[in-house]
Amino acid sequence: MSNPFENAMMQLKRATAVQPFPEAFMKQISSPNREVRISIPVMMDNGTLQVFEGYRVEHNNARGPYKGGIRFHHDTDINEVKALAFWMALKCAVANIPMGGGKGGVTVDPKTLSKTELEKLSRGWARGMADILGPKKDVPAPDVNTTPEIMSWMNDEYMKISGETTLATFTGKPLDKGGSEGRGAATGLGGYYVFDALRSKYNIAEGASVVIQGFGNVGGNAAEIFLAHGYKIIAMSDSKGGVVNEAGLDIKALEEWKKSNGALAGFPGSRTVTNAELLELPCDVLIPAALENQITATNAGSVKAKFILELANGPITPEADEALYERGIPVVPDILANSGGVTVSTFEWEQNLKGEHWTEADVNAKMKEILDMESGIIYDKSVAVNTDLRRAAFIVALERIAKAMGY
Ligand code: GLU
Repeated sequence: MSNPFENAMMQLKRATAVQPFPEAFMKQISSPNREVRISIPVMMDNGTLQVFEGYRVEHNNARGPYKGGIRFHHDTDINEVKALAFWMALKCAVANIPMGGGKGGVTVDPKTLSKTELEKLSRGWARGMADILGPKKDVPAPDVNTTPEIMSWMNDEYMKISGETTLATFTGKPLDKGGSEGRGAATGLGGYYVFDALRSKYNIAEGASVVIQGFGNVGGNAAEIFLAHGYKIIAMSDSKGGVVNEAGLDIKALEEWKKSNGALAGFPGSRTVTNAELLELPCDVLIPAALENQITATNAGSVKAKFILELANGPITPEADEALYERGIPVVPDILANSGGVTVSTFEWEQNLKGEHWTEADVNAKMKEILDMESGIIYDKSVAVNTDLRRAAFIVALERIAKAMGY
């Protein structure tokens, strides 16, 4: 498995080969400002003590407080969190929100924990990191396998330790605990806005066929939103595998099926595929919405999609980027495509700081305005410097960060 931070640095190299930046800036942006590792002891339900490893990487805060989610996953390690923190710095700059980039994680399969154990682990992470967090310092949020409830436990723990009665240290909280309208669906909806702003430039028609890898918050919401806008979802998967129906999947019924059967396989009218097969299905739009390193040098030549929208972070390796570019398959990069999530997180932070509560219509309209504009800026940059959308998005983000750092 390739190292995500090395891949991220390779992406940086590819982008800055198209448009160079000052050497001193390159040195600074290539390493995180701070990496924190903690041990989180949790008394398990069976009376034994287990110690989990937790991380927070603060990459860059030139544009504002560190911002980015916390991931609970058995494969999470410091290199993954470092890559994700770097991408967050670029993502916040792409969305032009007043935030820097950070990311957190715990190496754990949360499905193996009881609810009590999960709460103890979440509170333990917030306790261990409390010194470096705060509305003006570092503002975490959900990521893979972390939920609004986890954010409310963490924020509660932070308030107890710091003595500050602020809701603005964590975003992605439940609505009745200071959360924002629209945050739950924001990454999927933002992905749709970015897609819709760019699709006609690449001849993707309304109603096109869509394949989605991932059935978490992002993949699930994206499926419902694309379907509601008249697109045909022909395949979806979760970590166990996927199902295909070329006539189109009924997403609500599929969600019900997954809930009662614990997996997608066997869904009436569909055939089963592996996650690897799903990525190679003929379709108009492929949406990786799970984990990194899914499209690599090995399978990039077999991708049959006409257009790729990255809702996961880092699903395509730099070698695969090169192969897809040569094959003329456009890729909307993660740092633009999934920036709706952190954009609405920033609205949540702003509402918490001001003691306001905005309507869902207001939240979505503000997000759409930002994403339409930034999609246009990045598309124009890709044309101006004759490169792909990832390198163009990197260049736009780096220009903004460099400016904030005084370069
Ligand atoms: N974890 C999400 C991401 O990768 C959201 C981060 C946030 O809302 O701060 O963009």
